[in-house]
Amino acid sequence: MSDCVFCKIIQGEIPTNKVYEDDELLAFHDMNPQAPLHVLVIPKKHISNIMEAEASDAGLLGRLLFKAQEIAKAQGCEEKGARFIINCKSDGGQTVYHLHCHILGGRFMTWPPG
Ligand code: AMP
Ligand code: ZN
Repeated sequence: MSDCVFCKIIQGEIPTNKVYEDDELLAFHDMNPQAPLHVLVIPKKHISNIMEAEASDAGLLGRLLFKAQEIAKAQGCEEKGARFIINCKSDGGQTVYHLHCHILGGRFMTWPPG
């Protein structure tokens, strides 16, 4: 999608601090970190949000979540854990309309969110 900031990151048009990349997924550090570790994991396929995912995307979503787990472990969160977040549309607080999973770690996270 030409006007999507994350698609531009995938295309290399916007620089980012990359953590992981393969043919289906990309992970990079959030530019406005909310915790000592704040990484975003995205599919290279443009899916606007989790509500727009189709049954045929189920495998991709599974890979994305498992990759988030692997990254959290590799970044030192295995013992104390982390928070894995997918914001969706206005009530979910989504600001970038390209599906992404936040990994927040390195500090205690309160509940519930505001
Ligand atoms: P959300 O509110 O769930 O849609 O989260 C979007 C996230 O993308 C926010 O945490 C932003 O800080 C982050 N973000 C937006 N643009 C960029 C960018 N160019 N590089 C890295 N992170 C970004
Ligand atoms: Zn996109």
